[in-house]
Amino acid sequence: MHCRDAKQWLTHQTGGDMSAEERAALQEHVQHCSVCQAVKQHQQQMDALLRTTATRPRPSVSTEQIMVAVQRQQRISRQLEDIRVQQKSRVERMRPIGTAIAALGFFTLASIPLLLLAITIIQTDLVVQALTAFNSVIDFLLVLAQYLQAGITLATRNSWLLSGVAFVAVIMMGLWLRLMRPPQEIPGG
Ligand SMILES: [Zn+2]
Repeated sequence: MHCRDAKQWLTHQTGGDMSAEERAALQEHVQHCSVCQAVKQHQQQMDALLRTTATRPRPSVSTEQIMVAVQRQQRISRQLEDIRVQQKSRVERMRPIGTAIAALGFFTLASIPLLLLAITIIQTDLVVQALTAFNSVIDFLLVLAQYLQAGITLATRNSWLLSGVAFVAVIMMGLWLRLMRPPQEIPGG
């Protein structure tokens, strides 16, 4: 018998049963072949291992473990429920405040035209004066804006002028900060 055939028999790779002659030939070969002896031993160990694994009851999940898991699950769902209830109560508490703020804002906005209408009816002269003053203020602002625009255009065209304007601005800010500083005690005064 060759090693190849012996290994096939030893590792149960061949289909069918061994005849008496084959069995004898295999035993004879294994007795003289150290390689096949090792294969046989290994195969026997593997067989034994498979048998014990097959017969031994699998490490199953015990009832206690299931109960613990169920309790944990219940605890988690209870916590989630608590959080949900807390959020709900918070929303419930916030609702009147939000409604009050919304109502107040709405009333304020709605009362402005009414107030203006009332002033127009009661104090017509005042409104006219106010509008005139408002107009002149707007005119002044427009003129100022035009001058400002012209100045900015001029300054941005000339880099030297821009630098000068920036320098003056810095100086003025420094002076302003110095003036705004709280008065310090004068020594000896
Ligand atoms: Zn052999």
